[in-house]
Amino acid sequence: MQPNIAQVALPVPLDKCFDYLIPNYLFPVIGGRVSVPFGRQTLVGIVINIVDHSDFPREQLKPIKASLDTHPIWPAPLYQLLQWCSQFYQYPLGETLAMALPALLKKGKTADFTSLKTWHLTEAGKNKLIQGFGRAHQQEKVVRLLESSSLPHQAMIDEGISSATLKALQQKGWIEMKHTQPAKTVWPNLIENEQHKPQLNAEQAIAVATINQASGFGCYLIDGVTGSGKTEVYLNLIKPVLAAGKQALVLVPEIGLTPQTINRFKRRFHVPIEVMHSGLNDSERLNAWLAARERQAGIIIGTRSSLFTPFADLGIIIVDEEHDASYKQQDSLRYHARDVAVMRGHKENIPVVLGSATPALESLHNAQSGKYHYLSLTQRAGNASAAKHHVLDIKGLYLEGGLSAPLIAQMRRHLNAGNQVMLFLNRRGFSPALMCHECGWIAECKRCDAYYTYHQGNQEIRCHHCGSQRPVIQQCQGCGSTQLVSVGVGTEQLEKQLEILFPEFKTIRIDRDSTRRKGSLESALESIRSGEYQILIGTQMLAKGHHFPNVTLVGLLDVDGSLYSSDFRASERLAQLFIQVAGRAGRASKPGEVLLQTHHPEHALLQSLLHKNYQHFAQTALAERKMAQLPPYSFLTLFRAEANHNDNVEAFLRQVRYTLEAHPLFDEQCLVLGPMPAPLAKRAGKFRWQLMLQVSTRSQMQRLLLSSKTAIQLLPLAKKVRWNLDVEPQDLS
Ligand code: ADP
Ligand code: ZN
Ligand code: ZN
Repeated sequence: MQPNIAQVALPVPLDKCFDYLIPNYLFPVIGGRVSVPFGRQTLVGIVINIVDHSDFPREQLKPIKASLDTHPIWPAPLYQLLQWCSQFYQYPLGETLAMALPALLKKGKTADFTSLKTWHLTEAGKNKLIQGFGRAHQQEKVVRLLESSSLPHQAMIDEGISSATLKALQQKGWIEMKHTQPAKTVWPNLIENEQHKPQLNAEQAIAVATINQASGFGCYLIDGVTGSGKTEVYLNLIKPVLAAGKQALVLVPEIGLTPQTINRFKRRFHVPIEVMHSGLNDSERLNAWLAARERQAGIIIGTRSSLFTPFADLGIIIVDEEHDASYKQQDSLRYHARDVAVMRGHKENIPVVLGSATPALESLHNAQSGKYHYLSLTQRAGNASAAKHHVLDIKGLYLEGGLSAPLIAQMRRHLNAGNQVMLFLNRRGFSPALMCHECGWIAECKRCDAYYTYHQGNQEIRCHHCGSQRPVIQQCQGCGSTQLVSVGVGTEQLEKQLEILFPEFKTIRIDRDSTRRKGSLESALESIRSGEYQILIGTQMLAKGHHFPNVTLVGLLDVDGSLYSSDFRASERLAQLFIQVAGRAGRASKPGEVLLQTHHPEHALLQSLLHKNYQHFAQTALAERKMAQLPPYSFLTLFRAEANHNDNVEAFLRQVRYTLEAHPLFDEQCLVLGPMPAPLAKRAGKFRWQLMLQVSTRSQMQRLLLSSKTAIQLLPLAKKVRWNLDVEPQDLS
């Protein structure tokens, strides 16, 4: 009999596939989408297999409603990669596959280009160009861009033009929007623009030659100080790939994706380049996805999730700033894009290049053990120069808005010389609490095990964990005193203090809150570069991928929390921040200085960074990790659980622990820690606990998780708590 049962993976949180009958007028394919009835809904799923037998009686099976694809939606290696991800990260296959689809395809749209919004210059616009624009520079820029050809909406945004500007010009009748089908592009014969292309230095040339000469899969770690020309190496690696008619994927951290970065690739290559980031709308995303799959884009530059873009013929994967924490997804499929990129390279049999000035300890370890090829760039190319570091002992010093007197004096010196100053606050360590000056009582969220954060601006206290907010409390709930003061330094407080200390200089704050709006980061960066602001306040965000040549002083205000954190990765992150910020500041003619305020100047980590370098720190830290049998010398999985009843959560994780310990694969090399309360033990009224499993090899971890998962899912308490597991977690909170 003709096999006519389709096993379908659906986007539901269940670890299994569902059987459906294939009506004789439909021809679904394995790896293609179908829409099927599921309860009262209709869902879009992927056909995993077509068979002639079901464990359920045929008459109970429902028929497929529609077959949406005539070919598999992903090329085979990517489809296999997604299956691998589902297994490795212990996440249901149906949900994993759905996550990798653009939203429109998830909704059942045909896998076809949607019409593209493009801007065109009108006759009125051309006339205006002749008349001149006076001081309307942005408007003039738009019209000039459109003078020779019309451009897609996204290209305008990438040029730093806001939607508001475009709207305004449209209303004036100078430009108009049309919906067009994207043309089939053919790559030009001339791929590269050789203008301004620098001659590689010896180290760069060795790196390029090593990678270009190899064939097939290989993983290369480029350990290169900031400004050593890593990007230039990437460009030289991509060229022969494009010349061979293949495509390149470049992953960048969330915030590294700026017009500057993109323009560097666009200026160099004449092939179409697609940029994928969270700001794309559904049809833009689908178009970029299709452009890669249909070989219409030569290069895809994107953040974490663009790793799952299908390519017609992928030739190389580059992961820039490979140490960056934004490569790890913190919910649903908790994948690490760097690690999965290496697996993708393996499956596609192509090279994977990881670059960083501060490689992750995991990557350095892989290089040392011979798993990755190690290439280093020690020379600063162009006009960059190394910053000088100083540690400022602030024990017993009076701090104004978190600033010590020596730091203030240095700031004044640099500002008066006409330079810019950048101040870093550690997001985690700096939420100001509201405290009673008489008895020390601190305003605390009743639903969370956390203090309220004081927001001076709108006289509110807000819990950053559950989002609850209320007007500022006037009276201490401990002693009744009305002397309430804020403790800890927040950006707002720092900004206020800077106004008092440096009224003649302008301050700008760059963090997730201030740059949430699309395009606002670009315009902020632009006004910093143009010198409109002299003092920049930032969090980790500012340390990534941006270079500020006029910043000559960087102050790190609050690092002590990282020195004594319960998270074993905190010191690595601090070391990376320390080195990265130093690399962002100054240039040859104006070398940068980094000042770090601490109560613990004698701390071994700081001493190592100050007197030696990142490599020295990394070797010391790796030795410590080895002693403690922490990653990369072991492999971790974190079980997290939460519920309204504290006892249920703890009891559930205790049962998980017994289940694991009773497993035949659990040997004396394995270790379970916990259950213990999560660092944030209560959030939004729910109690949170965690359990850590430590195993000495990846494959043993995989086998152990795979074969104990069903038993864990069947635990009676598994239905009473919300739980998940994070394979190779990056963040232990
Ligand atoms: P990284 O990515 O390592 O920070 P970049 O590739 O951005 O470094 O290079 C830093 C600067 O040096 C850039 O302005 C780049 O154009 C320039 N540069 C890179 N390689 C060379 C070279 N071989 N000769 C001259 N300038 C170079
Ligand atoms: Zn709360
Ligand atoms: Zn009090």
